[in-house]
Parts: sequence; C-alpha cells; structure tokens
Amino acid sequence: MSDGHAALDPAGDGDAWGEQEVLERFRHLVPERTGRTDIRIKDAVWTSVFSIHRRPADTYRQGRVLLAGDAAHIHSPLGGQGVVTGMGDAENLAWKLALVIRGQATEALLDTYEAERRPLATDVPRRTTTATRLQVGDSPLMRFLRTRVLVPMANMPSVQRRAGQVASQLWVTYRRGPLATGLTSRLGRRPRPGDRVPDLACRRPDGRRTRLHAELGHRWALLAPPGSAPAHLAEARKRLGETITPLTCPADRQRDVWLIRPDAHLAWRGRATPAHLGRRLDHALRVSP
Ligand SMILES: Cc1cc2nc3c(=O)[nH]c(=O)nc-3n(C[C@H](O)[C@H](O)[C@H](O)COP(=O)(O)OP(=O)(O)OC[C@H]3O[C@@H](n4cnc5c(N)ncnc54)[C@H](O)[C@@H]3O)c2cc1C
Repeated sequence: MSDGHAALDPAGDGDAWGEQEVLERFRHLVPERTGRTDIRIKDAVWTSVFSIHRRPADTYRQGRVLLAGDAAHIHSPLGGQGVVTGMGDAENLAWKLALVIRGQATEALLDTYEAERRPLATDVPRRTTTATRLQVGDSPLMRFLRTRVLVPMANMPSVQRRAGQVASQLWVTYRRGPLATGLTSRLGRRPRPGDRVPDLACRRPDGRRTRLHAELGHRWALLAPPGSAPAHLAEARKRLGETITPLTCPADRQRDVWLIRPDAHLAWRGRATPAHLGRRLDHALRVSP
C-alpha cells in the first residue's frame, strides 16, 4: 500500500469527483506514466481532490481580527510547508497577544507580528510553487527535469540534508524586523537578535539541568553566565513580570546575557548595563518609559 497524487486536467470538474472517479483516473494514469501494467489499484483508504491556491492575505491584522496559518497565506501543499508556517505564525503572535491583554505592551506590538511573519508568506510560496511545477508539471521540459535531474538529486544525502533544513524553517530569523532594528549591525556573533536560539543545555536557578526550549512556550528566558545577571533579570521583570525564567548556560563561549522570547527567538543580547536592556524592552513593547 502506498499513497500518491496526480494532477487533473485544469479544465476538469475535479471538485465533484467521488472515490470511484479518482480511482478510475489513477487506473489510467499509472500505466501511462510508469509503463507498468501489472499494478492493480483498488480499496483506496482515502481519496480527496484539492485545488492549489497561491493567495496571501492583504493584511494579517484588521483591528481585533488577526489572521494566521492558511487564512493568511495559502499555497501549494507540495513541499510540506503549510503546518510549520502556520505554527510559526501562532508562536510569533501568542506571546504578543498575551502581553497586550495583560497591559504590559501597547497594541502597536501586534503590528510587529505581520512585519516579522509576512516576508515568509512570499518566500515559502515561491519555493512550493517551484516544487509543484517540478513534481506535477506536464511539459516536456518539466518531465525531463523531474526524471533526469530532480530524482537523481533527491537521492543524494547532501541534497536530502539541505532539503530537510530548508523545510524545517529552523533558519527563520527576524533580524530585519522592527524588534531587532538597531540591535544587529554591531554584533557579528550568532545568534543575533531576531535569530532562533537552538535548544541549548542549561541549568535552572536550583541547579537542575534543563533544555532551553522546555522552559519557553509561555515564558521568556534570561540566559547568562553563572552569577552575572541579577540586575538584568530585575530590569526585565519590571516590564515582563514573573514570566521570565533565569537560566545559566554551561557553554564557556557565552559571556553575555541573552533575553529569549517565548517563541525561541533572541530578543536582546549584550554585556551592556541593565538600563540598556530596559530601554530596548520599552522600545519593543512600544511603551513609553
Ligand atoms: C492535500 C494536502 C496535503 C497537505 N500536505 C501537507 C504536508 O504534508 N505538510 C504540511 O505542512 N502541510 C500540508 N498541507 C497544508 C496543511 O494542511 C495546511 O497548511 C494546514 O492544515 C493549515 O492549518 P490551518 O489551521 O491554518 O487551517 P485549516 O487546517 O484549514 O483549519 C481551519 C479550520 O477552521 C475551520 N473553519 C473555517 N471556517 C470557519 C468558521 N467560519 N467558523 C468556525 N470554523 C471555521 C475549518 O473547518 C478548519 O477546521 C496539505 C494540504 C493539502 C490540501
């Protein structure tokens, strides 16, 4: 048993097809495209016909209405990017909504959601459209590229690694977004403000070992070399309340303080005075000090 998909004639009325019509279509297509006549197609577990759209919403926010996931940016499912893009939207938006609802940030913070996430809504569909053309395109050029270039390349471990990395979206950064403006240019080291921080091994204040990502989700984290950050923590807590977990990172290379957002992106890093962190948070939360 295996799964499969096939493109229908664009002029056809596929939306009205039931299981039998879909199976009949596959019975014609499989021998035609594979040259094999020994394959029997029967007992489908599930069939569906879907149309491919490429439609970004004009805006992600209209007053109290916010769009995320497919409602904000629908594109071809080939490439498997829909769920991870939608989850990224939700992670980016959730902590901002929580701060606004608690009165710790102004509504202007919600506008940074679209500013940070919308660039992906043009980037991802560009890639999924290319993937779709290569996988189901019926022109002689596309057929040639698929069989002679795409399939051999897809079997190469380095290409598979790269494809997995791109599809994971772990590379997504908000460096150019409004919350990192003015923070990134002076810093050559990674992660830079806006980058996603990897799931580092850390310790909680009571000495217990933990992982960074296990501490995030509904909380922020202040990651610092041992014994170095009580003043930074106090400054951040003035703005964010008790929702920050102080963590220490055993990695020797970390010599500065990192404030990490609930969605695992770096909000601030530095060795500057705690007042600098406070000013940056006031700017990010769009509140007047
Ligand atoms: C054939 C196919 C294969 C796919 N394969 C992949 C894949 O391999 N990997 C991947 O990442 N993505 C894949 N996708 C895309 C993925 O399914 C979507 O990106 C994802 O489901 C979007 O999630 P969502 O929550 O934004 O929207 P949806 O999953 O569409 O959820 C929206 C929900 O809102 C409900 N709703 C709508 N209107 C109303 C209303 N007025 N009131 C109340 N409820 C309402 C709907 O019933 C639905 O349950 C595929 C899509 C298709 C069609």
